[in-house]
Amino acid sequence: MIGNRTADRRRFFQTGAAAAAGWTLGVPHVHSADASAAMVQDGTYIEPSGRVPIVAEADVVVCGGGPAGVAAALAAARAGASTRLFEAHGCLGGIWTSGLLSYILDSGNKPGIMREILTALRAREKNARRAPSMEDPEAVKLLLEQMCAEAGVELQLHTQCAAAVRDQANRLALVVTESKSGREAVAGKVFIDCTGEGDVAHQAGCGWDYGRPETGDAQPMSFVVLLTGIHLDEIRPYVSSMPGDTWAGPKDALAKLIKESSGFGPSYSKPSLFPIRETLFCLMANHEYEFRGFDARDVTQATLQGRAELHRMIDGLRGLGGPWKDIRICSSPERLGVRESRRIHGHYTISSDDITRGARFDDAVCRCAFPVDVHSTTADRGKGIEAAPVRAKPFDIPYRSLVAKDVDGLMMAGRCISGDFYAHSAYRVTGNAVGMGQAAGLAAATAVKDGRLPHEIDWSELAKTAPWNESG
Ligand SMILES: Cc1cc2nc3c(=O)[nH]c(=O)nc-3n(C[C@H](O)[C@H](O)[C@H](O)COP(=O)(O)OP(=O)(O)OC[C@H]3O[C@@H](n4cnc5c(N)ncnc54)[C@H](O)[C@@H]3O)c2cc1C
Repeated sequence: MIGNRTADRRRFFQTGAAAAAGWTLGVPHVHSADASAAMVQDGTYIEPSGRVPIVAEADVVVCGGGPAGVAAALAAARAGASTRLFEAHGCLGGIWTSGLLSYILDSGNKPGIMREILTALRAREKNARRAPSMEDPEAVKLLLEQMCAEAGVELQLHTQCAAAVRDQANRLALVVTESKSGREAVAGKVFIDCTGEGDVAHQAGCGWDYGRPETGDAQPMSFVVLLTGIHLDEIRPYVSSMPGDTWAGPKDALAKLIKESSGFGPSYSKPSLFPIRETLFCLMANHEYEFRGFDARDVTQATLQGRAELHRMIDGLRGLGGPWKDIRICSSPERLGVRESRRIHGHYTISSDDITRGARFDDAVCRCAFPVDVHSTTADRGKGIEAAPVRAKPFDIPYRSLVAKDVDGLMMAGRCISGDFYAHSAYRVTGNAVGMGQAAGLAAATAVKDGRLPHEIDWSELAKTAPWNESG
């Protein structure tokens, strides 16, 4: 019975063609005249039409468990929707955890889940001497898992969303996951792409933009590490983001020290050493230029280069002796930090003009108060932060920029929403990702409950009853 139902569904759905697009492999070496040999033609492998079991159904399926995805899943589940959350790595948190940078920016004006997370983290560790926006990635991992469990989110780690399937009405109907359990399909009523790279929207066939419109250059990736064996009081002039410090002073001092001790200037010319505790630090001192976050070969090469650079740097600092004699990398990222990737086309695209004039929208999901922040897109642009031709005033992120334009039943939250190059450089930070995620989750759950599609939701009305609405 189940097999027949699966076959019927399969006839009904169209696979997102973009999933296979763009791949030109060399002809694989086939050793024997087995069945697979017949499937190799003109440098491509034609997959046999195997049956993928539909293992679960949910009202809301959230793909990617970073800051945006966790917030989306929590908001959807708390609003009563059955909610599944798929995360490619072994923990929730994205850049905060697998990326090792728990520096939470633009969070102050974000009520709801962002405030809950910060309050809970501070309550767990009251007396740590650290940069004010900095958290311990291990504490974040545990807290996010506990919050999801309490909300009833069905979480699956170590699982990549690998394909997306639309029905004939152009509505997203399934995602196909890949994991140790093989290829499995999950049906959903509304999907939220929080993969950062916009993988699911791309797989479903949505249009997207990438990098600067003129050149296609995008912001660099970064290999972030955690350090031990140093003490805050002994290296204070090199430590960033402590109250009362200038932005550039400690960074310039550290860049100079790295150059003197290692014989090379860091690939990020403004290296930042953030204290998490007196003896535990996060170091962001690496830029990997001109690699794409949605290309596994690029990400691999950037990871290898980043790790090699960081080890050379830390070996150099250790060679200085004194307060540096015991410095060690105690953790390196499971996932390279990707600043910029696909920006999926939505019903509205946030523009440079919007951020310059501080746009206000009736369907605002949150307000971005972060400035334009473009890290040098190529190494010859100074290896630091670029002077941008536009300045942002605090601007609203409209609900429509979270709703996919080309495919129904699909939303985005986090850095893959619809915006232009400069708008993205401001809204990408994690306080906004959480604000967008919680709005997307509530809207998705409401759409399911009311039998509507996300683009049919009137956010300006729904926002009045949102659990985090302080004026309602
Ligand atoms: C080096 C660096 C420094 C930064 N500095 C700061 C900072 O100091 N403060 C700040 O607030 N922001 C900072 N940002 C920006 C911020 O990290 C991102 O824009 C933010 O993480 C966006 O959140 P997100 O949830 O959209 O994406 P991410 O944090 O990237 O999360 C995406 C999640 O989806 C998962 N995933 C990806 N693809 C799939 C798939 N196909 N299937 C299943 N799961 C998938 C990933 O494993 C990850 O957990 C920085 C970014 C970088 C790279």
